[in-house]
Amino acid sequence: MSVDHVTGRFAPSPTGPLHLGSLLAATASWVDVRHRGGRWLLRIEDIDPPREQPGAADAILRSLDRHGLTWDGPVLWQHDRHAAYDAALKSLQTRGLVYACRCSRSALAAAGVPDCLGACRTAGHASGAWRLSVQDAPLMHWQDALHGPQCDDLRQQCGDFVLMRRDGLPAYQLAVVVDDAASAVTTVARGADLFDNTARQCWLQQQLGLPRPEYLHLPLLLQPDGRKLSKQNHAPALTPAASANLCQVLHWLGQAPPPDLQQSTPAEILDWACTHWSRARIPRRAIALPA
Ligand code: GLU
Repeated sequence: MSVDHVTGRFAPSPTGPLHLGSLLAATASWVDVRHRGGRWLLRIEDIDPPREQPGAADAILRSLDRHGLTWDGPVLWQHDRHAAYDAALKSLQTRGLVYACRCSRSALAAAGVPDCLGACRTAGHASGAWRLSVQDAPLMHWQDALHGPQCDDLRQQCGDFVLMRRDGLPAYQLAVVVDDAASAVTTVARGADLFDNTARQCWLQQQLGLPRPEYLHLPLLLQPDGRKLSKQNHAPALTPAASANLCQVLHWLGQAPPPDLQQSTPAEILDWACTHWSRARIPRRAIALPA
């Protein structure tokens, strides 16, 4: 298959069940690639065992299935991908683009910096948290399919960032970049809470010589108190009414599903959505849920 074939993906962390916010992201990503005849992949981002919830990954798979959000090929589990993350880190180490940082979390917090305090950059430590240097990074220009051109200064935004943690676990930035490229993902449609990670991912892709996918950040759902609807904020799991859930998220996505569509099956609703899909109608701003 040619690498320019449209390929999207959904990449949940198994930290809790799907909720309306993650269903919105999954549905938008699915419809956006399916209406172009593309592939949709599923990747479970289970690289942070302490944050994971037993049974959450299975619950997510069942929920997607119930909503008709079918995926192509086998599920990619990040716990199986450590060799690929190690190989990517090794190639950066060989070229001197990363360094091991031994600054303690408390020292960083006391100094009020997210980044290394400085000495580790030239110390040549053999172990620690492996950080990718952004000291020579240019301003990162990237395009969001909904929000237009973006420009980020990584030195200001985050500084040298961690790719491999001190405990040997890969950081999200490394795993996501390696896996999006390995799966030949061409479109990353995901929640706007991940917006600020994109410049870091573009810089890492550039250092690893990997192609940059298209990015599209979807509106977040806000609880009546203004907080993001998220697993961390204990968003309620989805109700069993799959058709109503799908019509609700399509409505929030600005796609104006007709009211009687709720009587249809999930497969019929998704079919309707593929026919009528318009990126231009997706709202740019977060969506406040009624109290
Ligand atoms: N695993 C991340 C999450 O559940 C999503 C990563 C991504 O889409 O890039 O929030």
